Amino acid sequence: MLQTRVVNKTKRQSSSILSFVVLLLLTVAGCSQANTNQVKNLVKSPKVQEAASTPTSSSGTGKTKVVTTFLPMYIFTKAVTGDAADVEILVPPGTEVHEYQATPNNVKAIATANVLVKNGLGLEQFLENTIKNAQNPKLAQIDASINIKPLNEISPVEKTAKEEHEHAEGNPHVWLDPVLAKQQVMNIRDGLIAADPANKATYEANAANYIKQLSSLNNEFEQTLEKTPNCTFVTFHDAYPYLAQRYKLKQLAVVEIPEDQLTPADVQNAVNAVKKYKVKALFSEPGVDNKLLTSLSKDLNLTLRTLDSLETGKTDPQYYFQAMKANLQTLETACK
Ligand SMILES: [Zn+2]
Repeated sequence: MLQTRVVNKTKRQSSSILSFVVLLLLTVAGCSQANTNQVKNLVKSPKVQEAASTPTSSSGTGKTKVVTTFLPMYIFTKAVTGDAADVEILVPPGTEVHEYQATPNNVKAIATANVLVKNGLGLEQFLENTIKNAQNPKLAQIDASINIKPLNEISPVEKTAKEEHEHAEGNPHVWLDPVLAKQQVMNIRDGLIAADPANKATYEANAANYIKQLSSLNNEFEQTLEKTPNCTFVTFHDAYPYLAQRYKLKQLAVVEIPEDQLTPADVQNAVNAVKKYKVKALFSEPGVDNKLLTSLSKDLNLTLRTLDSLETGKTDPQYYFQAMKANLQTLETACK
């Protein structure tokens, strides 16, 4: 295991002493039993397809009101409900979920909701107090990650106290593995059926359609990435350990996005790590335009590409597939 401290500041927490941590995530083989469902012809339900509307508050419709925490939970929930329930999102797309601060409107939304859907695994730090303040004893809570075994943080050593707290329950980014995404959709489906049994048939049919698409996506990932086993990449957000484990990639390094100058020693450390592990790619995120990352990628002689962690984006349930297929293309190109 290699740890290289390179950077002392990050974009997210400029006041803290932070880290450039390079750790080897050993991929665990043998996790491929979960998907043998070779679905070629996707039948998309009209309800799923038309679910692109912006979430709106809608009391008085008589429908079950479901609040979801952030984008992937909104997307998966909306895929299951279609129009059978009113679905809202607490963390608006474009806002950082990891350090989100709840608003009074969030409290109101939870106060009047029937069901709350969260990712869990410690991701939604804002939720505990917000739920308390909402004082809604009838609220049913769905933890989408129930029965999913979390991976530990891969970079626990150099974290600040705040970050340790943030991910105390393991790495929360399970939605980026299509197989675990299926499990999340099933958990959401089962929770919705328990809370709103009148719409059981609709929830089951919609979930089945979405799960078929997730199976198909998993097949695509498997077939594409088996050509480049052990492809090693560096990320600037510890978001891909589940994806890496699933498809036998190696998320070699976690580099907090820097805002200050890298020292020559920092750069040298990064270069050494990249050489030692034959790193194929550096991955940033959509919307992050950081000159330092660009210059680091030049120093490392690696193309800087973007992977989408889906923490923000479009609220259409089909956006998950668009973004993940784009991620697959990026991985395929980078790993060649
Ligand atoms: Zn994240």
